[in-house]
Amino acid sequence: MNTIFNSWNGKRYHTLNYELQRIFGQKIMKISLDGGFSCPNRDGTLGLRGCIFCGEEGSGEFAGSRIDSLKDQVNDQIKLISKKNQSNMYIAYFQSFTNTYKAVEELKNLYYEALSFEGVVGIAIATRPDCLNGEVLDLLSELNEKTFLWIELGLQTIHESTAKFIRRGYSLSVYDKAIENLRNRNIRCVTHLIIGLPGENKDMMLKSVKHVGDGQGWGIKLHSLYIQKDTDLYHYFINNPFSLLTKDEYIDIIVDAIEILPSDMVIHRLTGDGKRDLLYEPKWTLNKLGVLSAIDKELKNRNSHQGINHKA
Ligand code: SF4
Repeated sequence: MNTIFNSWNGKRYHTLNYELQRIFGQKIMKISLDGGFSCPNRDGTLGLRGCIFCGEEGSGEFAGSRIDSLKDQVNDQIKLISKKNQSNMYIAYFQSFTNTYKAVEELKNLYYEALSFEGVVGIAIATRPDCLNGEVLDLLSELNEKTFLWIELGLQTIHESTAKFIRRGYSLSVYDKAIENLRNRNIRCVTHLIIGLPGENKDMMLKSVKHVGDGQGWGIKLHSLYIQKDTDLYHYFINNPFSLLTKDEYIDIIVDAIEILPSDMVIHRLTGDGKRDLLYEPKWTLNKLGVLSAIDKELKNRNSHQGINHKA
């Protein structure tokens, strides 16, 4: 086996597990929290219905409950995690809605509270690129000096026609500027992309992947489009059925994507992350282990690995 695979613990791509183990010397688990945020795309500032695929939990389906204190959420999540894992180090992950969308003083209190819990060694914050003003960036820089921090941005696609369809509410240039601002401050950034959005072909999807790779952020999260019950996308799909990717089509695109990403970009996710009882279609996305092992198999068949087709 080529030495590059050994450097990712035998995997053919650069996983988050590998990266965190390398940095902290042990397995690190994420604790998904709900900090009681809203989103400008839901509170009327930009829109009232949010992105077309967004569920009631604001893309935080596995986060704690917002009616509980942060302390209770952290304790509950650690209890859940420790049933399956032996880890005693955690990343506090602000996942639900737009987690920089409050006054800076409130943000500061919330982030520092999360960091104060035993075992929390870092913080991950999911937000929108249009919710990173100068004051917020200054706070993030301060946090970045004190702890292991990363910011997640839900780009989903670089194509403006699709962005309009999904009602994302900001243009690609806003994302590019946010990435530049974060990079200039040495703040790690992770970009989310959805593979299989309606109206996009394989070439368009890979162009989005290439754009993210070229942006030199720290990481990427990829997943196939899945339709969650009772979202606007669900109602659209019922009235205007469009073709969803098959598992084989998804594997083919995702392996191409892995090949064009730079080898140092950390891959946080390659499968969907929806809740079983909320998923409408495609059902194959529920078998995450099956999808991941099919990706490994296809990389092996191609004798390939992350970065093999990366062109700067
Ligand atoms: S930006 Fe996130 S929280 Fe806001 S509507 Fe879109 S998916 Fe939902």
